[in-house]
Amino acid sequence: MSAQLQSTTSAQSIPSYLHADDLGPWGNYLRQVDRVAPYLGSSSRWIETLKRPKRILIVDVPIELDNGTVAHFEGYRVQHNVSRGPGKGGVRYHQDVTLSEVMALSAWMSVKNAAVNVPYGGAKGGIRVDPRTLSRGELERVTRRYTSEIGIIIGPNTDIPAPDVNTNEQIMAWMMDTYSMNQGQTATGVVTGKPITLGGSLGRREATGRGVFVVGTEAARRTGLEIKGARIAVQGFGNVGGIAARLFEEAGAKVVAVQDHTGALHKSSGIDTHALLEHVANTGGVGGFKGADPVSNDEFWTIESDILIPAALENQITEKNAAKIKTKIVVEGANGPTTTAADDILHDKGVLVIPDVVANAGGVTVSYFEWVQDFSSFFWTEDEINQRLERVMREAFSAVWQVASDNKVSMRTAAFIVACKRILMAREMRGLYP
Ligand code: GLU
Repeated sequence: MSAQLQSTTSAQSIPSYLHADDLGPWGNYLRQVDRVAPYLGSSSRWIETLKRPKRILIVDVPIELDNGTVAHFEGYRVQHNVSRGPGKGGVRYHQDVTLSEVMALSAWMSVKNAAVNVPYGGAKGGIRVDPRTLSRGELERVTRRYTSEIGIIIGPNTDIPAPDVNTNEQIMAWMMDTYSMNQGQTATGVVTGKPITLGGSLGRREATGRGVFVVGTEAARRTGLEIKGARIAVQGFGNVGGIAARLFEEAGAKVVAVQDHTGALHKSSGIDTHALLEHVANTGGVGGFKGADPVSNDEFWTIESDILIPAALENQITEKNAAKIKTKIVVEGANGPTTTAADDILHDKGVLVIPDVVANAGGVTVSYFEWVQDFSSFFWTEDEINQRLERVMREAFSAVWQVASDNKVSMRTAAFIVACKRILMAREMRGLYP
């Protein structure tokens, strides 16, 4: 049954606007869905739903540059699934953004939101632009034009963007303002991850990193790993990796290796994460930090650790480096950092992988809290937010852990089982209309 399912779905699920050899992250996502199909019972009737984004918008984003010329950027907003609620997911600014990538990221949002049971579907957006090449004025103009272009499909009840790679609170403020001005009324709930003064939530900035820390400690507890003295390696030292590293250090662990787009560092006695965060805030990356030894990017992957946190981009752990990785637990702070082939290699080596759709769900969980606070115009304390976040993350972890041990499958397949069942059950109950 699964072979037949696979052959029908894989042929159909390569949409005509994507070439088979350009599947990229979307291909990785499709393979993950194929693995879950045999566990979906009667819901598998609807599985094709997961293999087709509901709605894709490609927009031209023209802006006037500071030098008077006009530049055009390509932007996307993909709503993968809205069966369980409005679309929800971040917006990424990066020179390598592609449609395949945004499609995969939107699908992972559907799975993530269902895995932690927040009442959203999945969506994602992006602009193919290197924001480091833009002035502040140009960045604002790109953001406002993009928001206007996707304004026809976003809204507080339809699709709610948030920060992702290279986007932040200021960009969310411009998005909120642009949408609101076009609507003729202030609609704070149209985006999350906003500044606190504009309806943002306490704890949102740290939420993804905090969630990574919570599930990392939960995975350690279940496998008998002591956090005190545990060796942590982190790829990406931004809002996710940097915060997670700091929290692990505060809990008594040692951050022994760090890598980002500016370089890689090693220090077996533990890097001072506060000093490194300050260095990154001042220079834009970990490269050049004096408090640890510089190593090559290849060496970074071979450094022995107890917990490895890929918290940068997709496709970082591949068949090229997976065999060399010496760690016990991988906690995916990034979306899609591990390819399917690498997943299998890690599994065979006995490495426990806590998948992105659970591990980095802290961000969207506090986004949900922010959205609820905006609607009720009543704001919670940071303690309340962190406690609720911890509860959601621990409950999601436990449910997935249980399904993994019951079915003897990886945590990723288990998370997909939990999530896809929720999505497809909603799909089935709503029925087809018109
Ligand atoms: N960009 C984050 C993610 O990938 C957060 C999305 C959100 O808060 O909507 O989960």
